[in-house]
Amino acid sequence: MIKVENLHKSFGKLEVLKGITTSIAEKEVVAIIGPSGSGKSTFLRCLNRLEDPTDGHVWIKDHDITNPKTDINKVRQNVGMVFQHFHLFPHKTVLENLTYAPLTVKGTSRKEAEAQGHELLKKVGLAEKAHEYPSRLSGGQKQRVAIARALAMNPEVMLFDEPTSALDPEMVKEVLEVMKNLAFSGMTMAIVTHEMGFAREVADRVLFLDEGILVEDAPPKEFFTNPKTKRAQIFLEKML
Ligand code: ADP
Ligand code: MG
Repeated sequence: MIKVENLHKSFGKLEVLKGITTSIAEKEVVAIIGPSGSGKSTFLRCLNRLEDPTDGHVWIKDHDITNPKTDINKVRQNVGMVFQHFHLFPHKTVLENLTYAPLTVKGTSRKEAEAQGHELLKKVGLAEKAHEYPSRLSGGQKQRVAIARALAMNPEVMLFDEPTSALDPEMVKEVLEVMKNLAFSGMTMAIVTHEMGFAREVADRVLFLDEGILVEDAPPKEFFTNPKTKRAQIFLEKML
């Protein structure tokens, strides 16, 4: 589903990603972990070209998104993204947040977009909030709306950048639960997270990034019980 080859990204003189090669298969759930500043967000943002790679290639299915000829907007319709800070449209209702992109980008009919919107809200446990405004929701509810909004485009891949890091502790679980259901439903997912329990339980693979290098790429059981590198061992000692 996603293939990354020798991905480099620099900001001026700062080399943030130093040649990352990996791939994510259809239906695979990959947790991306590592110290702050190691390049996790930059890596994720390169996967839908929110950042332009300095060198290397990224394919989403058969599309080389690093090729300037690729219609990136078309590819992005297929790649949902959820951020730490929800970025909901504040002046739209929850349902309008969900229907906006299908209506304007995909040309879905209003009837169909709204029916799908209600369906998705049910899925994330917010059926009764359709006509509420985001300001009236808790952080956990906002993030569940953000996930539903991304799903409204029927993406084949979902990218999450620390989706629970801005939440009060009691709201983390409800969001992880939604993500877990999504993972079990067969969605292909790449998730930057500090939730080690979640990574261990839900991910098929863990990518450990440090200083822009993919230091380890292993199944969670292997990574958490027997990290190969000193860097990962030190990181895990601090986290667990
Ligand atoms: P992480 O998500 O692992 O915390 P980031 O990918 O956000 O790391 O950042 C990696 C490094 O790149 C940091 O040193 C950060 O300051 C730098 N960086 C990220 N985005 C930019 C940018 N737009 N311009 C300049 N430097 C950036
Ligand atoms: Mg980050």
